[in-house]
Formats: sequence, C-alpha cells, structure tokens
Amino acid sequence: MKAIVFDGRRLRLADDLQKPAAVHGEALIRVTMAGICNTDMEIMKGYLGFQGIIGHEFTGIVEAIDGRSKKLLGKRVVGEINCGCRHCGLCLEGLEKHCPDRTTLGILGRDGAFAQYTTLPVGNLHEIPDNLTDEEAVFTEPLAAAFEILEQIRIKSTDKVLVLGDGKLGILCALTLRLTGADLTLAGKHPWKLSVAREQGVPVVLAKDLLPAGNKYDVVVEATGSADAFETAMKLTRPRGTIVLKSTVAHGAPVNLAPLVIDEMTVVGSRCGPFKPALNALAKGLINVKPLISAVFPFEEAKKAFTRAKMRNVLKVLLDPGK
Ligand SMILES: [Zn+2]
Ligand SMILES: [Zn+2]
Repeated sequence: MKAIVFDGRRLRLADDLQKPAAVHGEALIRVTMAGICNTDMEIMKGYLGFQGIIGHEFTGIVEAIDGRSKKLLGKRVVGEINCGCRHCGLCLEGLEKHCPDRTTLGILGRDGAFAQYTTLPVGNLHEIPDNLTDEEAVFTEPLAAAFEILEQIRIKSTDKVLVLGDGKLGILCALTLRLTGADLTLAGKHPWKLSVAREQGVPVVLAKDLLPAGNKYDVVVEATGSADAFETAMKLTRPRGTIVLKSTVAHGAPVNLAPLVIDEMTVVGSRCGPFKPALNALAKGLINVKPLISAVFPFEEAKKAFTRAKMRNVLKVLLDPGK
C-alpha cells in the first residue's frame, strides 16, 4: 500500500508497504480522507521522536474486524487516536490517552493514517452520521480537542473568554466555546484567517491590539502553536482566571511564572478530547468546518500538500488517498 512515512529526517511517499491486518481486537480501515495537523509539522521537527507512517486525522471505511461485534463492518468511521493497554488503572477509568503504555496513531509507537489502510481498536471508532461528508467528518479529531476544554473547565455565559491563535485549532476552539454563550473573542495575526471565523459570527481582534486595549479575560485559551505565547496569555488573564494550553510544540521557551503566583491563575493543559460531542456538533450544523478547507491533495502530491500547509493564509490541507 501507499503511505507517507517520516524517517526521522524527511517525508517520503512509500508505495511498497505491507497492508496491515486486523488483529488483537482491532479494525482494518480503508482511509478515505486525511487531514494535515500542526502536530504533523512538529513531528518533522522532532516531536516525541516519532518515526513511521504519520497522520492522525482521518475518515475511513471499516474493511475487517477482529472481534465478535461486526457492527461497524462496512461503515464510515472516524477514530480516537489514543490506544491504551486496557488493563491499567488509567485505562479502566477511561483515560486511555494517559495510559503509560499507550500508543497514539501516527504520533507515538503506532503507524498513522496517511496511508491507504490503517488500524485502530474497534472501541476507538465512531460511525460518521450520513449527512456529513468525509471532508467535514475529518475535522472530528481536531474539533474533539476543542471540546476537551468543556470537559475540563466550566465556562459560564457571563465569562469573558479569549482564544489566542487564528490557526485551525484556534478557530475550532473559538467556534466550540462560542456554543457556551460566553462573551468570546478570537485573536490572531492573520486578517484573512480571522475573517473565516468572523464570517461565522465570532468577534475577532488583531493580536497586536490586545495588550494596548487593556482587557483582562476570565479564560484565555492559548492555541497559537508557539511556545512563547504563554507570556502573552498570562498578561491577558484576570487574577484568579484560567489559562488553557492547547499548543503542542517540539521545543519549549523559558518563561517567568511569577505572574501565575501573584495573580493566582489556574493553568490547564489540554490535549485530545471526546469525539461524540464533536461529531454531534458537526452533524447538527452547529459548527461549519467547510470554510477551513484550503486544499485537497492526492497522496502522490504529499510533499506539495505539506509545503502548502505551512504557507500563510492556509488553514486545513486534506489528503485524499483515492484521488
Ligand atoms: Zn492533530
Ligand atoms: Zn493502560
């Protein structure tokens, strides 16, 4: 099969890989669409030292299942990316994403989804509602990461909430948190990206105007993808406020934590989230992801796709293995 492999130094399109098999309670999935995420870019800078088939945002069709329940056979699915040992305390609590022995699709110890076929435990899969296209459903994984914030903190409709970062994740966080009815603003550096959110009714501001405006927020979500934005987040959070960190970066930045102590702020790290509310919001049309799609490339043009994904004024770049 064809797949996009990161060998520790560069990306390579392989066309001679063995098609995986469904074993150990897993499903074999024929990938129908995949999305390039900033984490994929960070992997190429050394994030978690991953080597192998990259990619973790996908839609696919279940072709084989190892296990008794064949309910999902032939169905269109998306898949949660963390696979725990299923035995440890964290796994039994449903926190497989924190299992010390976990693998993560295309990120940690497990080949990913930029391939014609991939495998995941059957329990990780969710059927895609009929009214969603693959192009929309492929956003489930990053959108679930935005919904994770609502699992972790309570946002009141009276709260002032700021999302920092007008990339894919920042926009998805803004579209999601807006559903709480809170007074929400999205800040970024790119007028075009901000306009994509504004067209869906999200109030936006240029990042350079934030500090001069002197506003402080109850909740600041840091989704810039840049290690040094934490300082800015601290300056924009009110005393006793909450900072949610969403960026996963390969290399950190030194930071003076004194403002956290003085203003008694709470910092919440936030990673992968629940698929059900994300799929639900997409299916009900509460969140429209279509304006975030910048381009769809065939696998053969993976290098072009990655170059495009890194360019300014580009949001989501998709890969279509069948194209
Ligand atoms: Zn991702
Ligand atoms: Zn475990």
